[in-house]
Amino acid sequence: MSSSIFDQLVAMFIKFPGIGPRQARRFVYFLLALDEQSLNRFTESISLLKQKARQCDRCGYHFFKDDQGGQLCRLCSDPNRDHSLLMVVEKDLDVDTIKRSDSYPGLFFILGGLVPILDKEPAKRIRLAKLLNLIKTELKSGVLTEIILALSVNSEGDYTIDYLKQHLQLILVDYPNTKISVLGRGLSTGTELEYSDSETLRNALKNRG
Ligand SMILES: [Zn+2]
Repeated sequence: MSSSIFDQLVAMFIKFPGIGPRQARRFVYFLLALDEQSLNRFTESISLLKQKARQCDRCGYHFFKDDQGGQLCRLCSDPNRDHSLLMVVEKDLDVDTIKRSDSYPGLFFILGGLVPILDKEPAKRIRLAKLLNLIKTELKSGVLTEIILALSVNSEGDYTIDYLKQHLQLILVDYPNTKISVLGRGLSTGTELEYSDSETLRNALKNRG
């Protein structure tokens, strides 16, 4: 089957992470086979997704307005989490993975991407300004003792870690009691954090330095 609507949907699904042309076509055929009620529920959920979602003012994690009324996500507003630790990750999914591993008691910050090597405007690729502002505020309050850079183990991840360190070290000059650490290399090269299992993450956290 080929029509503009069909091709448009295929083109959309191909943009999804990890989806190739064949899978994209399977998805469209699957939608075609759905009964009207299910399809309506599906399209309604999609159209409400952006409208209902909000991004945490502090860490950038996405959550839903129905869940709670505040400006902060559940993690940032949880007084039982360890506010002395701040873990910087690439994306929402990494937070989910680390939360599931039950190995980290602290707070998060979502960078929103990685910096491509030799990129001309790295600060625009990631939420750098927000991160630096947050860290400055936390340092002033005297609670923050460690910033853990937990990015994927690949060349872009390494490059981004170096880039962040350059900025963070400038801020940390006046705060010798706050350190920067990087996850231990229990994670194998090329591993994306979101695909790491809980045991590996626990070890990588234990061996951070
Ligand atoms: Zn948050």
